[in-house]
Amino acid sequence: MESHIKRYQCTLCHETYTPNADLMTCPTCGEKGILDIEFDYESIKKTWNRSILKQSTDLSMFRYLPLLTIKEKHLNMLNIGYTPLYESINLSAFLKIKKLYIKDEGVNPSGSLKDRASGIAVIKALESNHQTISCSSTGNAASSLACHAARIGLKTVIFVPKRAPIGKLNQLLIYGANLIAVDGDYKDTFDLSKQAIQHYGWYNRNAAINPHLVEGKKTVVLEILEQLKFKPTDWIVVSVGDGCTIAGVYKGIYDFYQLGFIKKIPKILGVQSEGCSPFVDSFLEHRDLMPVDENTMADSISVGIPRNPVKALLAVKHTLGYWIKVSDQSILESMKLLGHYEGIFSEPAAAASLSGLIKALKEGIIKHEETATIIVTGNGLKDPENAKKAVVPPVILRNDLNQLIDYINKGEKHV
Ligand SMILES: *Cc1c(COP(=O)(O)O)cnc(C)c1O
Ligand SMILES: [Zn+2]
Repeated sequence: MESHIKRYQCTLCHETYTPNADLMTCPTCGEKGILDIEFDYESIKKTWNRSILKQSTDLSMFRYLPLLTIKEKHLNMLNIGYTPLYESINLSAFLKIKKLYIKDEGVNPSGSLKDRASGIAVIKALESNHQTISCSSTGNAASSLACHAARIGLKTVIFVPKRAPIGKLNQLLIYGANLIAVDGDYKDTFDLSKQAIQHYGWYNRNAAINPHLVEGKKTVVLEILEQLKFKPTDWIVVSVGDGCTIAGVYKGIYDFYQLGFIKKIPKILGVQSEGCSPFVDSFLEHRDLMPVDENTMADSISVGIPRNPVKALLAVKHTLGYWIKVSDQSILESMKLLGHYEGIFSEPAAAASLSGLIKALKEGIIKHEETATIIVTGNGLKDPENAKKAVVPPVILRNDLNQLIDYINKGEKHV
């Protein structure tokens, strides 16, 4: 299927390159020269259309193989993607929005959307005969990589800043990753991983740097569009850190539009936290991105220097979308709303999309007569400490029915 790749193009200098599995970033621009992979849609159209897709028995992200950059699916993999898209009943009534859909990415094997990128990364590593794959991250990218590498029998070397909270590391250690805690901040961590990857020749799963990862992430929107029977909602709402996820959302929309699978381009709303909002600030102030402090509990989107800025900004620009920032308090509120109204437990960065939708409705950016899909990017079980902040602790009673009756009579709980 790799023949469907037309060329690579640098997002900075726009130089084009012939497809080359070893090429990660633009040779001229260096690390900032993130590459975009262009597909040959005319050649894809010859063998693939909506009805062939509909008949596919592959209930995973690999049902979109003609639009992926791998030769073939690896048969031993855990099942990534094909996650549910729920039509909201309770929350849409509460928000008074015409229609609301919720894409639940928390049910992926390692509990986040990152599995879509890691699935591609492990296959690319095998295709190029690597035994070891490496990345630097403290969160979902790392645990997701460790998860899929474990299943497929690849070794992982994962770099984290030494102050990374132990809760975040447990998933990694359970999956058997070789974990290196770096005595320094995230920049030091990233630097060391970069040097080590170069020195040892490990496969590089660093977000943004590796252009194949966005192509994996885009399958989330290919699924959404297929689940909506190719009639997109007016808006798709997603939270943003490095910018790879939102870039993938745009790429998937673009692919299906080019193939004629959809006739309308949904608008993308990019959501960040007020405590770390480099994209939103550059958008609102009409200026270039500037590095900012990382000051939000939504750790998965706490990225002061986003590594995929060009693609992320174009995603909103090309869809005539919008950028919005939300408070940590509203994120906690959204975690409760998703749980109470829909039975979905989300980590803070994942609930930020709902906060963004609520604020956009309030500000008239999204109209109540419009329709929207929010992407819930990660599972709440990953971050129990922050979930605790969103709720009131439970009442503690003795084994005494009268005490229970008193408590219920006080009407503090609806029974
Ligand atoms: C990584 C991540 C995001 C943001 O993705 P970026 O590519 O960093 O913009 C959002 N939510 C969750 C749960 C994530 O793990
Ligand atoms: Zn370049």
